[in-house]
Amino acid sequence: MSRTAHPSGPRHADVLPESRPSGAPADVNALDAAIWPASAERSGGVLRLGGVAVTDLVAQHGSPALFMDEDDLRARARAYRSAFDGVDVFYAGKAFLCTTLARWIADEGLGLDVCTGGELAVALKADFPSERIAVHGNNKSVAELQRAVDARVGHVIVDSFDEIARLAEIASSAGIRQRVLVRVTVGVEAHTHEFIATAHEDQKFGFSLRDGSAARAVAAVLAADSLELAGLHSHIGSQIFETSGFEVAAHRVVELAAAIRDTHGIEIDEINLGGGLGIAYVSGDDPESPKQTVERLVAIVERECSAAGLRVPRLSLEPGRAIVGPSAITVYEVGTVKQVVLDGGATRTYVSVDGGMSDNIRTALYDAAYTCTIANRESSAEPVLARVVGKHCESGDILVRDTWLPGDVAPGDLIAVAATGAYCRSMASNYNHVPRPPVVAVREGASTVLVRRETEDDLLRLDAGVNP
Ligand SMILES: *Cc1c(COP(=O)(O)O)cnc(C)c1O
Repeated sequence: MSRTAHPSGPRHADVLPESRPSGAPADVNALDAAIWPASAERSGGVLRLGGVAVTDLVAQHGSPALFMDEDDLRARARAYRSAFDGVDVFYAGKAFLCTTLARWIADEGLGLDVCTGGELAVALKADFPSERIAVHGNNKSVAELQRAVDARVGHVIVDSFDEIARLAEIASSAGIRQRVLVRVTVGVEAHTHEFIATAHEDQKFGFSLRDGSAARAVAAVLAADSLELAGLHSHIGSQIFETSGFEVAAHRVVELAAAIRDTHGIEIDEINLGGGLGIAYVSGDDPESPKQTVERLVAIVERECSAAGLRVPRLSLEPGRAIVGPSAITVYEVGTVKQVVLDGGATRTYVSVDGGMSDNIRTALYDAAYTCTIANRESSAEPVLARVVGKHCESGDILVRDTWLPGDVAPGDLIAVAATGAYCRSMASNYNHVPRPPVVAVREGASTVLVRRETEDDLLRLDAGVNP
């Protein structure tokens, strides 16, 4: 595939990846329960969420908009937390974060991962219990570390020798011992359906096991009076369905833990295996339940520790996508419908909606697959092969690459895209000066704005030509 022409934009894809359409589903109006939020249902043909018709939600909040099923999200958070006694669950705030969501996460008894000063600011504004906050990042600034120490966060996950020295000094000046986890690069790259145990560890995160950096980082932490080694951390990837990658990671982290015991005579208290637990985006995606996943990971750590003769440390996990992803949908209004004849004579229906890559970059960035449905009615029209695209000036501005929609889809229809809770609003941009959509919680027949829609005034507020 050639991508030599890149006039502008994050991925000006003049050459589109190969399409992989599956056959038309038996019923285009059906909602796959594995993909849609728990409360999603059709009533009189209209999609409902949290007991409210999507048509009413759009009448009240406009489109495009993200609607989040609060009960669904809380249930998933609770399922992870209660899956296994003695496992700490930190919600990865980068998937989506606002103060209300942070409060829900706190209510449900989870911890919170942040990886920038901005995410920390949201957590602190929400009065998130600071001892349950963990601070990540490969390049935390001095100001960010200072703020984390001042807030007395529970954990800092250290990622470089520079940072260990900086944090030691900041904690020492503050007169505290900061608990830290050492982030280890285990040489495992996990993907949805496979993992690669890489020979090299060529990435920016963590301390390499192979070249001895991880062991030296542990020694540096132990040598600093103001730092306390709480444990080891590994994060191997995202949208993972198979536990085999975690197995290799746990094995390698436990090997390091055994080496620490042999060298320093101490046993570590905690192993954090990171996030990356996968969710269903399209039919056939079949992730395990939170309970199954957590139990499997616990079993892996117990087995590895007992083989190494180590006391079993606390396990912690950091799911982001798996908590927030399935809970939200994005609803768009169709503006134009266009038939395009493909090589070979088949036709593809391009359905243009009022959002796009500015509210969901994942399709353009990762070639992600999504499921969508017509939301304001059901239809018995023959399904057509469709592509849902946005309104941006990019041919790569695709939301749902291949889908089947009723052949009578028309301007004014609403299209709902499932499983957009994670990494959509949090990665949203103002590309083409399109205001970012709101996030609205829905529960028991009522809706509450979590993040309001951006306005043109918001867009112009930073423009020093009008606001010097
Ligand atoms: C991104 C990230 C997570 C969350 O990943 P998900 O795929 O959303 O579960 C957890 N831990 C770390 C260190 C991360 O960078």
